[in-house]
Amino acid sequence: CGIIGYTGPLDSKKILLEGLSQLEYRGYDSAGIALCMENSRIHLVRHTGKVSNLKKGCEEINQVSHCGLGHTRWATHGGVTTENTHPHRAGRVILVHNGIIENYHQLTTEFHLEGKLLSETDSEVAAWVLESLYDGDPVKAIAELVKHLKGSYSFCMMFEDHPGEIYAIRNVSPLVAAYTHSGSFVASDLTALIPYTRQYFVVPEDHILRLTSYKVHLYGLDLKELEPEILEVNWNM
Ligand code: GLU
Repeated sequence: CGIIGYTGPLDSKKILLEGLSQLEYRGYDSAGIALCMENSRIHLVRHTGKVSNLKKGCEEINQVSHCGLGHTRWATHGGVTTENTHPHRAGRVILVHNGIIENYHQLTTEFHLEGKLLSETDSEVAAWVLESLYDGDPVKAIAELVKHLKGSYSFCMMFEDHPGEIYAIRNVSPLVAAYTHSGSFVASDLTALIPYTRQYFVVPEDHILRLTSYKVHLYGLDLKELEPEILEVNWNM
């Protein structure tokens, strides 16, 4: 029920865990993070229950990561288990999802995913569809992916062969983003960004984000780049 992504000079593990704590009020039953490590390998930590369980599970990670995704899940498809906890990995793709993919059964058949799925979630099906469509260009693959989906979503993704970058898209489910001197952020709501910036933008529906450590790029589904409309937070927390 909450998403956060970060890439930049700071310790991403710390930022993601703090961000997930800020998003706790939205309600959830499990939480997980994916960290892009120095050798470009992606490390997943997923726990059912409170963010505090996830924090304990992350204590043994000593290596610093500068890019990662975090998620709190409100289970809609599949029970509250570690396998169903996000992030999901599908080949080169790591994905977190808020929302519901209504046609995940049809997609499982259409993309021959029966033997691949490790969870019962609609979200993992979307991750594998993305992996099937991926030919090295994440923005193009995401634009293709959403043509196949029925339902509601905000997705944050990493691609193993694009270390240090985060991608995102949404339709109905909310997402905000910001780029600052301390890195680039995307989250389901402003509470997670407020500690780092007062300037942000609302991700327009059906637009793709590409976060690098110093900039957030915005693309239409026609793959053309657009300038985001930056807003200023004018209230105190
Ligand atoms: N439908 C997905 C699931 O059940 C995502 C739920 C959510 O929004 O957290 O895993």
